[in-house]
Amino acid sequence: MNIGVMALQGAFIEHKEKLDALGIDNFYIRNLEDLKKHKDGLILPGGESTAMYKLLTELHMFDELKQQIESGLPTFGTCAGLILLAKTLTNQEHAFLKVMDVAVTRNAYGRQLSSFITHDLFNNKKIPMVFIRAPYIESAGDDVEILSVVNDKIVAARQNHLLGTAFHPELADNLTIHKYFIGMIKK
Ligand code: GLN
Repeated sequence: MNIGVMALQGAFIEHKEKLDALGIDNFYIRNLEDLKKHKDGLILPGGESTAMYKLLTELHMFDELKQQIESGLPTFGTCAGLILLAKTLTNQEHAFLKVMDVAVTRNAYGRQLSSFITHDLFNNKKIPMVFIRAPYIESAGDDVEILSVVNDKIVAARQNHLLGTAFHPELADNLTIHKYFIGMIKK
């Protein structure tokens, strides 16, 4: 198995470290040529979604990325990565890739709470969750499986080959979510 990690901006190194820890082959994607390489799965890291969108467009990667995901490439978006995947953004007019049937609110936690760490359930397992200027999922389509709810807000969900978390599993000392994603790819 080989997983591509989008490495234009944000917390991509930490995702690579998790995959390395699990013994999963992986490579960074920095341009269109990298993006076209064979992979069994893709990670879109956290960071700043507007900056990522700008880079994806300027590097002529956006259309290819959207097409690969729409063709069924298993994709895991964390935080800004989840924002990129969302079909709708509740607090801005235009969404980005529009591939996952979720409505996401950017920077959804107020200033005081803009970054915090908690422990809560992912798929019925308690794990650490690191939120950094995080979004949450306001609503989700019928075929979206809700995997985590924290303070009444959806913060992790799956739709077929797509997985999204509002928090950063790559910044916590825990491999549960990366293992879950690898399990998705194997099926
Ligand atoms: N606030 C960022 C955005 O809107 C996401 C934050 C993150 O990825 N940690 O893109």
